[in-house]
Amino acid sequence: MATLRDRIEAATQNASRPARAVTLIAVSKTFGADDVVPVLEAGQRIFGENRVQEAMAKWPDLRARFPGVELHLIGPLQTNKVKDALAHFDVIQTLDRDRLADALVREREAGASLPRLFIQVNIGEEPQKAGVLPGDAAVFIRRCRDELGLGVEGLMCIPPADKNPALYFTRLGEIAQANGLARLSMGMSGDFETAVACGATHVRVGSALFGHREAL
Ligand SMILES: *Cc1c(COP(=O)(O)O)cnc(C)c1O
Repeated sequence: MATLRDRIEAATQNASRPARAVTLIAVSKTFGADDVVPVLEAGQRIFGENRVQEAMAKWPDLRARFPGVELHLIGPLQTNKVKDALAHFDVIQTLDRDRLADALVREREAGASLPRLFIQVNIGEEPQKAGVLPGDAAVFIRRCRDELGLGVEGLMCIPPADKNPALYFTRLGEIAQANGLARLSMGMSGDFETAVACGATHVRVGSALFGHREAL
């Protein structure tokens, strides 16, 4: 935990960015309470999960024991799980299509308070990945933020595996800047230092903190 924080701060300093400019999201997917509690005890409060179901099983107890937890949904969200997601997550990073935006608006009209939102961009234009295509991002951002009044804070991406991520991180930053968004959720265990150099404000780190994950 301390080592990871040191690495993030060193990368921040190397990039001549202000101290603590980068927020660590500890990605606890597949890990149980026994693994998560030591990280909470070390003071970490911001966590990421990629499945609504798993978060519902894991986090209510942990939240009761550790006040101040902030939970980010970093995996795809089906519209039939929106209600559950709103009940359990403080931030949804995977807003990526009109149907989901419309479902959020319906919940708001029904009285729900919406979480903070990031729009996921399919930055490598990969068919197997979720996210709005880079070429469609401006229109989608405008629709969500300006027409629907959704509080979009920033953009999130997962760059293609086995390619130089810097190119993709830079591109995400350009899309954010062109659209007046200040926050960038990018960088995982293998590439968060590169992401910090490219302007990440949020890094999502799992295995470098919790250890190796069993395949799902
Ligand atoms: C699992 C996951 C991470 C963390 O991955 P690591 O390589 O274990 O750090 C980050 N972002 C998303 C969207 C994930 O699904």
